[in-house]
Amino acid sequence: MNFRQKIARFGLASTFLLASCADLTPRSTAPGVTVDLVPRGKYVRRIHRPMTPRYITIHATENRSRGAGAWSHAQMLKTGALKGRHNAIGYVGWHFTVDDHSTYQSLPTNERGEHADYDGPGNRTSIGIEMCENRGNDRARTLDRTARLVAWLMKEHNIPLSHIVPHQHWRMIRHDDRRDLGHKNCPHFLLDRGRLGPKWQAFLARIRSYL
Ligand SMILES: [Zn+2]
Repeated sequence: MNFRQKIARFGLASTFLLASCADLTPRSTAPGVTVDLVPRGKYVRRIHRPMTPRYITIHATENRSRGAGAWSHAQMLKTGALKGRHNAIGYVGWHFTVDDHSTYQSLPTNERGEHADYDGPGNRTSIGIEMCENRGNDRARTLDRTARLVAWLMKEHNIPLSHIVPHQHWRMIRHDDRRDLGHKNCPHFLLDRGRLGPKWQAFLARIRSYL
């Protein structure tokens, strides 16, 4: 084997080596996302609950306070300020918060959150995304940035468009008293009288344009 062949063989071996190392490192981060996770072992992450994401659940914060953008929601999650009074873990938490100029990631995409349906499949199998609606926040830009993030996550996790759902998709049955809360009207500004309609279809079309 001459030198050139040795180099070629080494190149091939190192490619395999790099590929196997990549499996051990965290997945890459979506463009434009600030990773600012809830500390491991605390609050909604106090118990490690691995998840393989199969769906993406879309929410709206319904928080109209001035300043209630992506950063401040991420801070609330990080400091355990958002309690989950009727769920098993005692806190709420989701993966991404999007506003008109920033996106924060609070949970790894391979850990479950508490944003959709207590012990139901929404929490056990979906990445949760909250869209901000604080006063002064541009909704069209927020929707566009969310659509781009969803498209990126779909490709990263091999999730089909049929598995992009509004929070309203999941039936909410409380953990502590088994009370059936039905289906929440969330995200309210993408539903038509609480149901999937033209607004939701337009949002899916926007996502499709980024695939
Ligand atoms: Zn919701």
